[in-house]
Amino acid sequence: MQRIIGKQAVLHRYEDLMAYECDGYTIHKGVPAAVIFPANTQEVSAAVTYMHKHKIPFIPRGAGTGLSGGATALNGEVIISLVRMNKLLDVDYLNRKAVVQPGFINLKLSNSISTKGYYYAPDPSSQAACTIGGNVGENAGGAHCLKYGVTTNHVLGLELVLPSGEIVRIGGLPDSPGYDLLGILTGSEGTMGIVTEITVRILKKPQGIKTVVALYDDVNDASQAVSDIIAAGIIPAALEMMDNTAIEGVESGNYPVGYPRDLGAVLIVEVDGIEAGLQHQIDEVLEVCRKHHVREVRQAASVEERARWWANRKTAFGAMGTISPDYLVQDGVIPRSTLPFVLARVGEISQKYGLRIANVFHAGDGNLHPLILFDSRIPGQQQDAVLAGSEVLQVCAEMGGTITGEHGVGIEKMEDMRFVFTEQEIEVQIGLRQVFNRDNLCNPDKIFPKPARCVEVKQHLATVRETAISN
Ligand SMILES: Cc1cc2nc3c(=O)[nH]c(=O)nc-3n(C[C@H](O)[C@H](O)[C@H](O)COP(=O)(O)OP(=O)(O)OC[C@H]3O[C@@H](n4cnc5c(N)ncnc54)[C@H](O)[C@@H]3O)c2cc1C
Repeated sequence: MQRIIGKQAVLHRYEDLMAYECDGYTIHKGVPAAVIFPANTQEVSAAVTYMHKHKIPFIPRGAGTGLSGGATALNGEVIISLVRMNKLLDVDYLNRKAVVQPGFINLKLSNSISTKGYYYAPDPSSQAACTIGGNVGENAGGAHCLKYGVTTNHVLGLELVLPSGEIVRIGGLPDSPGYDLLGILTGSEGTMGIVTEITVRILKKPQGIKTVVALYDDVNDASQAVSDIIAAGIIPAALEMMDNTAIEGVESGNYPVGYPRDLGAVLIVEVDGIEAGLQHQIDEVLEVCRKHHVREVRQAASVEERARWWANRKTAFGAMGTISPDYLVQDGVIPRSTLPFVLARVGEISQKYGLRIANVFHAGDGNLHPLILFDSRIPGQQQDAVLAGSEVLQVCAEMGGTITGEHGVGIEKMEDMRFVFTEQEIEVQIGLRQVFNRDNLCNPDKIFPKPARCVEVKQHLATVRETAISN
């Protein structure tokens, strides 16, 4: 690797590699064989060609903020870090698109084009740190994706180094004929190749933005308000919710806003668009919120106040560190109308395992983030947190939802894929991965349950079938 991309661009000493032993999912760890830092597409291609030839497995990595273990080298793979490829290559305001390298930080894009009145819509709470390459890997979402869509709705074209080392370009036009390869690649968690350039859609900033917070004694009233806001035909730019334990965390964190600690839930509702119709929409939101026993509801009095509310919400995960030594973030999706029932089930799971669970939601999308609080120093608690997380996902699946809204499957939810896919459906998807990644060298053994278990289940099913036929 040093011969291919230079001595300074390779880490191989154990003490250096330790920093790469996991991403934001800290339950499973593994030290990579090496971490390499290519500076351009040609270097990525040369390194991958070499590794393909010598059957060395490798993993693309952005900022490592992923929450499902996608960028973790469990079996001594080589990590290809894209952080040196961090340039904004082009902005085409006329056609409303920008071209970035994969290591370009999400928030920097909006900051770079803001003075011209433009922004990039997908806004994960980690946007000050995560890369757009990583966002493509996970099909990242964010608070404002309710109205504007997640990463896949904003990717117009990709340059990709295939697991063989070949460089290809995909998309680029509004609607190319043939299969939607951009859709397949976005959210493929680094298992189909290394993204080396991304063309994204940029949007004109809305003329006006108005934000409301509603404070509730009862989380069920807040949930009902969420359903009724959408049912009223309003599509807020963002519709976020935090429950009592989450409020305790954010109010103990670095960005408290003074929410009373005895609240059942807080809702943040934001509408944006042409200034003329906005106050009417906000009045409707206020009216719906008041119908459900709201303790207090009010509009942001200034740009600064809105910014404070968002800083408080967007740092909610990290703020859990102030009330618990460890936490595990889950990422289930449910139909919005089932929110009160699912929250009650989450409460039961919390009691069963004796672990507190804070809930932070992209409520408008039905995307729950239960944060399971535990102390890894207490024997058995980490294991219980993992089991509790899996049970929460099972409930989401049973309610007609699914096991991930935006954080991906990675290592964490591989077995949970069985809640939503049959063996056959899993096999079809593994087959699709093989079209791009025939030798399974590119981020191997992620997303799908272990083939051994697939085979086991398949054999079991074959036996059942044979017995049924012979009977
Ligand atoms: C505090 C906090 C808040 C968060 N909030 C949100 C949120 O609101 N919404 C949300 O969606 N996520 C959120 N996340 C999760 C995470 O930030 C996102 O998944 C993000 O997209 C990961 O980007 P990254 O650069 O850190 O990628 P990494 O973690 O480095 O990688 C993520 C995945 O993408 C693959 N990958 C990385 N780069 C490439 C590439 N160039 N080509 C191909 N594959 C690649 C990796 O192999 C891995 O599977 C949050 C995380 C934290 C820690």
